[in-house]
Formats: sequence, C-alpha cells, structure tokens
Amino acid sequence: MRDRIGVYICHCGGNISDVVDVERVAEAVGKIPEVVVARTYVFMCSDPGQKLIEEDIRKYDLNGIVVASCSPHLHEKTFRSAVSRGGMNPYVYEQVNIREHVSWVHKHSPEEATEKAIRLVKAGVAKVSLARELSEIRLDVKPTALVIGAGLAGMRAAVDLAKMGVDVHLVEKEHFVGGWIAKGYKAYPEGKPGSEVIRELIEEMKSGKIRLLTGAEVLSVTGSVGNFQVRIKVRPRFVVGECDRFEEAMEKCPVEVDDEFNEGLRKRKAIYQIPTYPELPAIDIASCNRCGECVKVCGEAIDLNQQSEVVDIEASMIIMATGFKPYTPKEGEFGFGRKGIITLPQFERLLALSNGKLTYDGREVRDVAFIYCVGSRNDEHEYCSRYCCTATINAALAAKELGIRSYHIYRDIRTYGKYETYYEDAGKNRMLFFRFTPDSPPEVRTEGEKLLVKVRDQLTFGEEVEIPVDLVVLVTGMELAESEIYGMLKIPFSRDGFLQEVHPKLRPVETAIGGVLIAGTCQSPKDVMETSASASAAAAKAATYLLKGYTELEPFIAEIDAEKCNACEDCVAECPSGAISMSEIGGSKVAVVNGALCRGCGACAGICPVEAINLRGYYYDQLRKMIDALLEV
Ligand code: SF4
Ligand code: SF4
Repeated sequence: MRDRIGVYICHCGGNISDVVDVERVAEAVGKIPEVVVARTYVFMCSDPGQKLIEEDIRKYDLNGIVVASCSPHLHEKTFRSAVSRGGMNPYVYEQVNIREHVSWVHKHSPEEATEKAIRLVKAGVAKVSLARELSEIRLDVKPTALVIGAGLAGMRAAVDLAKMGVDVHLVEKEHFVGGWIAKGYKAYPEGKPGSEVIRELIEEMKSGKIRLLTGAEVLSVTGSVGNFQVRIKVRPRFVVGECDRFEEAMEKCPVEVDDEFNEGLRKRKAIYQIPTYPELPAIDIASCNRCGECVKVCGEAIDLNQQSEVVDIEASMIIMATGFKPYTPKEGEFGFGRKGIITLPQFERLLALSNGKLTYDGREVRDVAFIYCVGSRNDEHEYCSRYCCTATINAALAAKELGIRSYHIYRDIRTYGKYETYYEDAGKNRMLFFRFTPDSPPEVRTEGEKLLVKVRDQLTFGEEVEIPVDLVVLVTGMELAESEIYGMLKIPFSRDGFLQEVHPKLRPVETAIGGVLIAGTCQSPKDVMETSASASAAAAKAATYLLKGYTELEPFIAEIDAEKCNACEDCVAECPSGAISMSEIGGSKVAVVNGALCRGCGACAGICPVEAINLRGYYYDQLRKMIDALLEV
C-alpha cells in the first residue's frame, strides 16, 4: 500500500485550466488520506514542473506519484524520468489525461468537466496506491540481422548494417537482386539507369558481412527480438558453377517464355539472366523441358537435378523490405488489354529496349498519351502513390530525346519538392497537359492503327478534346507486394493496405512487433530517394539495439499465478502472440508466459476463468479500486 502520494495538476497554459477548475481538483484529491501533497502548476512538463516533482519526492518522502495533464502518449516518458530522478521506481507513477479526455471534449461544460476531472484523478490515486515496483525486461542481443527483400531498400539497409559491423542475412525470393529499381530506364533524380544504381550497391555488398540467399522464401519465424529463429527454403538455381559459354547455352535453349524483367515485352529462354546480381544465370524449372541442350554446352556448371535446401538462421532483428507491386489495371480499364495500351513500368522497359527510336509491335511510336491516377485515389485505393507523377514526367522527358510527343491527361500533378522542375521542363519541352475530373474520366478507343483518347479538359473549361496517339500509357500506382511473412509475423496493416509503423513521427520505421522494422515501399508508396532514406533509417534504428548488446522491453506483460491456474489452456488459445505455453511446475501443469513474446494486450487476463492472470501495471486489485473511486458519490 502506497500511503505517501504526490498529485500534480497541470494548467497546460490554460488548455486545461480555462475549463477545469484545477484548484478545486487539487483541493478535492488533497483530502484523500494517502495524498500528502496536491499541487497545480502552469506547465508540469517544463523543467521547473519536473523539478517540483523531484524535490517533493525527497522533501515529503513520497512513494507514489500522479500527474493529471495531457495524454500519456505525449509525456508519460517525461514524467517517469522525473520520478526516477527523484529516486523512486518510475512505474509507481500514473498519468491521468484531463486535457483530451476532459477540457478539450467538455469545453462548454466547465462544472461537469471539473467534476469528471476530480473523479479521474481520484481513480489515478487509487491505482497508484496499489502499484508495485516494476523493472524493464532486459534481453541480450547479438549483432545479427535478417533483411527480407533485396530490392533497393533491402540492399541499402543490408549494406548500412554491414558497414556498422552487423552480420546480415539478406533473403530475396527471386534468383536475382535489384527488385523494381533494376528495371528503371533513367531513375530520377540524376537519370541513372536503375541497373547502375543497383550495381553500386552490389559492389558495397561484397564486404563479407552480408550472406545473400536468392531464390529463397521464409518458411517460418519463431522467437522474438534478440532471438528470432528463421527457417528458409532456398530453391535451386540449377546453375551451380562458372562457365564461359552461358551465352551459347541461352541461345541453344529451345524454350521461350515472356520475359518478366522486360514486363512481357520480350521473350526469354528457360535459362536466363538479368543485368544485376549474381552474375550466374538461373533456370526457370517450371518452363524448362529438361532437354539438356544447356548441359551439352556448359556441362557440370548446370545440374538439372539440384534440390531445394532448407537453411536455419538466427537473427536478433528483422527488417522487412518486401517492396511494392504496381497496380494491374482491370481488363478494359481505359482499354487495358487492347494493343497499344500499356502501363508505366512497361513503358520504362520499352524505353530501355529502344535503340535510338521507340517501336511498339513493329511500328515506330511518335505520340504517347499518359493517363494518370489509374488505380489511385478512387474507392478501391484512396491514397495517392506520390512517385508516379514525377516518374511519368521523367519518362516523358527521356522519351522526348527519341523524338516522342507527349500528352499528359491528369487529375492533379504532384511533382512535389525539388521535382517541380521536371514539370517546368515538361512545359518547356512543349508537352501538352489536359486535366480531367474523376466524374468524367478519359475514354480510349481504337481507330485503325491509331488510339484516340477523348478527354473533357478542365483547363479549357470542359472542352472535349480527342487526341490521336500511337501508345497509351496507364500511370499505375503502388500496392503492397504479396508475402506470407506478414501473417507469420502478425504485422499490422495500415488503412491503405501497407505495413503499419508504430507512429509516423516518433517511431517511423518500427512495427508493433518488437524487433521487426520496415524499410522502403512495403510501408507506403515512396520514390527512390525516400526508399533509400527509409532503409538507412531502419538500419540505423536496428543498430541502436544490435550494437548495444541488449535491449529493454517495458514491463507490462502478463503474470500468471501458478497456484490459481487450473490448466484449462484457454489463455494459450487466446494469446495472439503465442506467448503462453503449458509447463510442468512442481508436478502440476500450469501456464507460463514468455516475457519476450508477450505484448501486454491483456487478452489472456480477460479470458482466464479463475483470474490467475494479471497484467503487470494493471493488477485486478488496482482496477477494482479505480472503479470504486470513479463511482464514489
Ligand atoms: S502520384 Fe500517382 S496517384 Fe498521385 S496524383 Fe500523381 S499519378 Fe496520381
Ligand atoms: S498479455 Fe496478450 S500477448 Fe501477453 S500473454 Fe496475454 S494474450 Fe499473450
């Protein structure tokens, strides 16, 4: 029982005290027998406010603290530190929110607001009076990390970590690294081909600290921060050694399939290579007819009987860099599916394959219409993909060098920040812009060898314009790439369907799952620079744990009273984190909690039929006493 409690009521510079009569609150709670001191102050979070708490702890020998102020999200850590500096356990502290929960929501009812504040602060005092001293859970952390996905974000994060001395396992599901950036014709800014951007990273990857597994998929993940055990299946590449006749083997291979790297605009063989890394080709065994022509050329460098391998690794932290997939338009959406109507990624590859002039389906292309926001900012995808306006204008400027005339049919142009100059360049290069509204989208029809795009142009007050072109490019946004790993790790998704960070400002690269970080476009649409920056941020955040050698978790986890547990196993089934298991203790079966896995959600405590589970910091007796205080007349 804590019987020397200090209560501090904040004015929040008028934010609270303009509505709530803070002096009356102090007077009311000051009458509670356990309350030794109850004060008000203009800004409790200021240095003098915090000092006040520290000095009172020593002066009055306090053993419990309540601060009634703003949301704990804002200042719980601030006040815990002050309590700690005053010489008390920081968890014998309660923050009561009388700003968002009281003065802001009841600003027209000051009397009732004051009454509510009194009850809430009394409940806070009740809780603290039964608070136990708690301490953080400390876990050892070895400097090893797993990065999932070897596109721009994954490679950048892996290289940054390796440079800091961390051992990295970099897992890529394809047989080659590079992801989408490798396909970019002239990635902005700077206009470097994407494969060159990747080449620089590949050189940096050869430090010896990065173990690259390609053709690899994560089968399972167990454990938690500091100690993840990951099982990975590595699919065979079927090319097992060096040979200087791979080119010839590729020529001899009789199988031809659509080339994914070139977005289906070209064919490739069953034995194939893309211009990234590793420099060894791979065999797409699903297409291979096992005729053995390649083996006749390359001999032992090819093993068509190679088997999959299962690799077990350990990692202290995981960085998700699984990336995006471009939205695929529906059949018939702006004519998609018909000849001459392609997507922006396909156009990029068309540019990359051009040799001085742009051809499509055997004909030279002179005029191209770009239709923006396809699959973006609608009922299905409410968000803007942000990168695609700039990427489109960048591609159109590159096409201009091949003599292409461009028509941009857009809703809004968002070439924000330093990329505004691309938009200006587009104007200087006589590209034409037509603006449509969502209720009057452009229509595409085919007439002979031409495509006609009809648009009601808002820039000319709704005039209907029909533009004859050779090619229509649908500017498609980003969606999260599919992966089974999201479910395995139970990472929450954002409203837009991407992976959700804990807090966009305060913890932008962490997920709610301890030890799992996010980098790049799996978090939200990003351009190349933003992707790279977020990957470096994730690596730096991971390093703050990995290089310290340990991490500390908050103590608010489930605690099981073995005496009361009747081994019904309800909690085992209910726990969403797999943190509870049954164990034999003193000859009886009882539930036990893995503190590293428990996220303190309280689901187990709610379902336990015999109240054998308490959540630390929210013990049953504390909650009951709070309810009594709230209901007190
Ligand atoms: S960024 Fe993409 S979705 Fe957003 S306005 Fe530009 S083209 Fe449309
Ligand atoms: S508090 Fe939540 S995460 Fe922890 S053991 Fe209980 S159900 Fe599992």
